[in-house]
Amino acid sequence: MSTTALPRQSTDFPGWYGEVVRRAGLAENSSVRGAMVIKPYGYAIWETIQRELDDRIKATGHENLYFPLLVPASVLAQESELVEGFAPEVAVVTEAGGNKLEEPLAVRPTSEALIWSTYARWMQSYRDLPLLYNQWTNVVRWELRPRLFLRTSEFLWHEGHTAHETHEEALAETLTILHDVYADTIERVLAIPVLRGRKSESERFPGAVDTYTLEALMRDGKALQVATSHYLGQGFARAFDVRYTGRDGSEQYPYATSWGATTRLVGSVVMTHGDDRGLRLPPRVAPQQVVIVPIFREDDRADVLEAATAIAEELRATAVRVRVDDRPEHRPGYKFNEWELKGVPLRIEIGGRDLAAGVVTVARRDTGDKQQIPVSHAAVAIDEMLTDVQASLFRSARDERERRTLRDPSGYDEMIEYLRGPAGFVAAPWCGRRECEAQVKDASSATMRCLPLTEPPAQSGACPCCGRSAVTAAVWAQAY
Ligand SMILES: [Zn+2]
Repeated sequence: MSTTALPRQSTDFPGWYGEVVRRAGLAENSSVRGAMVIKPYGYAIWETIQRELDDRIKATGHENLYFPLLVPASVLAQESELVEGFAPEVAVVTEAGGNKLEEPLAVRPTSEALIWSTYARWMQSYRDLPLLYNQWTNVVRWELRPRLFLRTSEFLWHEGHTAHETHEEALAETLTILHDVYADTIERVLAIPVLRGRKSESERFPGAVDTYTLEALMRDGKALQVATSHYLGQGFARAFDVRYTGRDGSEQYPYATSWGATTRLVGSVVMTHGDDRGLRLPPRVAPQQVVIVPIFREDDRADVLEAATAIAEELRATAVRVRVDDRPEHRPGYKFNEWELKGVPLRIEIGGRDLAAGVVTVARRDTGDKQQIPVSHAAVAIDEMLTDVQASLFRSARDERERRTLRDPSGYDEMIEYLRGPAGFVAAPWCGRRECEAQVKDASSATMRCLPLTEPPAQSGACPCCGRSAVTAAVWAQAY
């Protein structure tokens, strides 16, 4: 572990992010530009996210399946908006087995095309609907400005693809995924407050009728889109000629949804909660929730280690993820720094004198507070403290977002200056015209993140760009 200080968040946020990801052992670059190696500590965080999402995906009635990596170029080309939208990012295999292929094969940038060309065979009657499927995969989207976890040429994700009889049912599905799967996981497990909204037309997924999004605010004032859920209407069914016989005997096109969340979520945890000392992991996503650092002299070494092991076993019995750091080659101070950098929520220090008094010292990573607790009471106290750390990280992220949100700016100039900062979210009335959306983007390099579902709509106001009366509220920010 490097002993030099991390770059400060306030003066070099990108440098801070890169160093934290590297030094905490989350990921590193590979020899292919834009592709990342996810290291065990980063992958453990991803596995927790994956398990939490997967539980909710299944609890809402979906099954997992798997479609292949390669998509015939002609299949990908069948839906014109999709192929246009992804054209700059698609990697194509033209040779295999030493021969030029008759038809080039795209490496999937997303799987709508292959899945809908297959659904045509799976759907004859309304009795076959709904199809509620999800897959856990990797995808490739060639990335010219890569950042570990945030933008990589290959990333891990899951993608759900459903088919329904009615518009209402498909729209309800889109929103169930947004609220009950994504927002629930991201707010309760990752402790990241999210803004729930709908994308403007220019920010929609290619081929979607509506894209719903969750937007989070990072500690540098930039937004991160953390999950999206798309209502696709009948466009994909028509493009791939997927029809079924409806309840009245007539031929029908089904209504579709698709939705995804990626390894970017690991980056969102780093940038929402991290501080100048490194990561601060919410307990529910932390690979180790508690680390026990024994502090001993030669004469009390055996007693201290025995006590540390006993506490660890007691905590494990209550399903706490705990590690005893008994590495002999490092001093306690070194271990404290390392586990702080890695964001472990609680550290228990146990020494000979503590043992004699029947107490241990517990340090909280989120606040830095230290307190002594009786050994006899450790399991209950640790459980309560983990719950409290989880809640307080969420509260402080929500307070930070509120502090950084400018509502109803006094005018266009204030709005642009704030967005240029970047100082955070701006929530402002919008006339609904693309000209104004483009003007703000040109002037500030901020994008319209969403038309919020949960914010009070500032419909009464005037659009800060053109002065026309607003039809909706819109939220803006610079974004990753
Ligand atoms: Zn306007």
